[in-house]
Amino acid sequence: MDKTIENTRQYLKNLFKNDKRAWVVAYSGGKDSTLVLQLVVELLHELDKSMYKPVYVLTTDTRVEAPNIKNYMIYSLKCVSRHADEYSLPLETILVKPRPEESFWGNLIGKGYPSPTRWFRWCTSKMKIKPARRVIDKITKQYGSVILLLGTRKDESSSRKMRMEKRDYNEQKLNFHHEIPNALVASPIAEWTNQMVWDYLINNNPPPWGEKHDFMFDLYSQAAGGECPVIFDLNTPSCGGSRFGCWTCTVVKHDKSMEGFIAAGESEMLPLSQFRNLLKNIREEEKYRLPYKRNQREGIGPFNYETRKMLLNSLLSIEKEINEELLDNSEIEYIQSIWNQDFDFENSALKIAHSFGREVDMPKNSSFLIELDQKYIEEFCKTYEVQQELVGALLNLVYEKHENLDAWGAKTGLERDVGELIEKAVEQIENADLSHDH
Ligand code: SF4
Repeated sequence: MDKTIENTRQYLKNLFKNDKRAWVVAYSGGKDSTLVLQLVVELLHELDKSMYKPVYVLTTDTRVEAPNIKNYMIYSLKCVSRHADEYSLPLETILVKPRPEESFWGNLIGKGYPSPTRWFRWCTSKMKIKPARRVIDKITKQYGSVILLLGTRKDESSSRKMRMEKRDYNEQKLNFHHEIPNALVASPIAEWTNQMVWDYLINNNPPPWGEKHDFMFDLYSQAAGGECPVIFDLNTPSCGGSRFGCWTCTVVKHDKSMEGFIAAGESEMLPLSQFRNLLKNIREEEKYRLPYKRNQREGIGPFNYETRKMLLNSLLSIEKEINEELLDNSEIEYIQSIWNQDFDFENSALKIAHSFGREVDMPKNSSFLIELDQKYIEEFCKTYEVQQELVGALLNLVYEKHENLDAWGAKTGLERDVGELIEKAVEQIENADLSHDH
């Protein structure tokens, strides 16, 4: 053990001194990335300030982290940042989130993407890789290139070991990142076993930034599972299996960590766990899905409109029950904008949100109705007996979805979308008439 620690410290020291690239430490709050961060901070304390170069600590909040893990992650990141300021370490913490269009709810409730599975794991690339890549791209633009420090270990699994051994390493044990240009990857704890990681964290507690690791130890003992690894490429196996990550994860059969938290008395996790199970079950039933795909091809498609409304309703109701914000206003706005394009003529997402006391409106710049003189549209709709929501949805197509009609095929796309929208509107009116007759 002592030898491994010494080798790792020496490796990090040489890498830091002999290379000018900025470092990016991927930190998730899990034990492996905590260990890497701790070793890096310890190294910075040991080095002379004249040797310093920028070190970034990058954390992704997927927006669907289990609330207790998210709070811990954000709190410990703050402690690290405070510590860096206090000791003038060249270290900056960055917390990155997926944009609304990359978020779990933006895709699942907005676009109706069925909940992810091992074979359709759309979440990882949207929620983890893209947001992290944006930040790394910015850093590489500034410094030319970065070294990304990951907490990956061969001991995690035999497939992980095989993949790590297959990579081409240079003499500094760095390998090129195949998805992030100008990024080299270092895995300083590649040879550490699980036990060694725990031993180090237990014997070096508290870390230099002060707060003890005890809360993390508790999380692990409650979760009865492993952690969701920091993911930067799609070759990383699913966070599912044994994980410590999104509370919405339907990739796993049973969410052991959630079940562990509930058993340990975290009662607010129960409705979350039940909602996750609902997400997992309904994706398998055709009645919750559209009979065609988003690209209009035949086959079981996204969640249908009623299901999306039901999911938004249930999610906001849980949010109220546990008094914890589960999706933010920008996601609700995004959901509404997609629903406008897909089927909605009456701002249903906003109405649902309002019914739960959420104060959210469409942002001004996408509210063409305001720009286009609301009064004139109201008069027009009255005179010609047209639904105002339909006019809104049609304008939305022109102003937002098909803004650029010069592109090849854009006009055909607009014609198709207008036709579909009118068909849906007629269908809705007919259905409404039928239910009235009954
Ligand atoms: S934990 Fe599950 S839901 Fe979250 S990114 Fe990983 S596979 Fe997707």
